Amino acid sequence: MEYNPIAKEEILKNLENFQKKDYKYEDGRILGSMCTSAHPFSKEVFNNFLDSNLGDSGLFKGTKAIEDEVIKSLGLLLSCKNPHGNIVTGGSEANIMALRAARNYARKYKNITDGEVILPKSAHFSFKKAIDLMDLKAIEADTDDNFNLDIDFIKNNISDKTIAIVGIAGTTELGLIDPISELSKIAFENDIYLHVDAAFGGFSIPFLKNCGYDLPEFDFSLKGVSSITIDPHKMGLAPIPSGCILFRKKEYLDVIAVDSPYLTTKKQSTLVGTRLGASAAATLAIMDYLGGEGYEKRAVELMDNTNFLKESLVNEGYILTVEPQLNIVSFNHPKIGADDLCSKLKKKGWMVSVSSYPIAIRIVLMNHIKKSHLEELIVDLKEINENI
Ligand SMILES: *Cc1c(COP(=O)(O)O)cnc(C)c1O
Repeated sequence: MEYNPIAKEEILKNLENFQKKDYKYEDGRILGSMCTSAHPFSKEVFNNFLDSNLGDSGLFKGTKAIEDEVIKSLGLLLSCKNPHGNIVTGGSEANIMALRAARNYARKYKNITDGEVILPKSAHFSFKKAIDLMDLKAIEADTDDNFNLDIDFIKNNISDKTIAIVGIAGTTELGLIDPISELSKIAFENDIYLHVDAAFGGFSIPFLKNCGYDLPEFDFSLKGVSSITIDPHKMGLAPIPSGCILFRKKEYLDVIAVDSPYLTTKKQSTLVGTRLGASAAATLAIMDYLGGEGYEKRAVELMDNTNFLKESLVNEGYILTVEPQLNIVSFNHPKIGADDLCSKLKKKGWMVSVSSYPIAIRIVLMNHIKKSHLEELIVDLKEINENI
């Protein structure tokens, strides 16, 4: 910051020069992101709520009521009539809150002090942060050759120290849905907390199921599920930062509440103190505006693009890692490695990433990627193939 103020125009020009270096979703070249351009209407609403602070909700009772509405609405989407939870910054914060609730609940009601969490190897890295923050012990369950979770491993590793089991509805790398109904059964029978990370799949699985897609159950309709993470800022088309944590019981929020003496509300369960009401307002607005119908249409479009890409890749001789369940395609070239293929694609302007488990090129078919972009991508992949 300079001592002398600078004129607005000059500041804006300066910022624009920085912004020019960013990739833009509209160009259709960002192929590895789980985020996308938020819907214009949700951005408009977001801007109207920039001053509201849900961290001090006694001052913002109206915005707090909006948050409650979103929680209720997302609860209904995920088969829970009376959910408890918060709009948070994203899936990472939601996952950390869930494990904190599981840890504190087990400490309070089961006297477990050195807890263990059983989670799939495919779990998002936010669980590593949670486990590190709370000094928990992680027990990683492997997958078989088809990347299905090893259920027996989970059964065999439950102990009197297990504070939580984690299942994923839409893995970050492959978009696969773990067998949540089996996990739910195990969790219920053993009275263990089950957290479902549907940060990615939450805004597509329910809609695809409505349209006849054969996808497994994953939500609160399974009685062993204790909490669910869902991210409005992915396929929900809300602006960043918009994540959500939903709990089945109020006790889970209570065990993570701390006193917040100087605020209008005397207890706070979220990790973040001052927090944006804009995320809640924009999420409610876009959900009401698109409706189930709008999300269904979009979810099916994304799957159509996924199938188009999948079939084109196979036609060009590329090898799929798995049959996609959601809008993620993972593949390799039969001869060259994923890193090599990734750098060839980057040279052609495609922003792709290599997943680490399994090692493969991973394309997330988000809403900004149109069929015309995929056709251009296929032309480039064909050319790469011909020059190997
Ligand atoms: C995106 C994602 C997260 C992390 O969410 P952020 O919003 O980036 O914090 C966690 N889990 C899964 C499965 C995800 O896809």
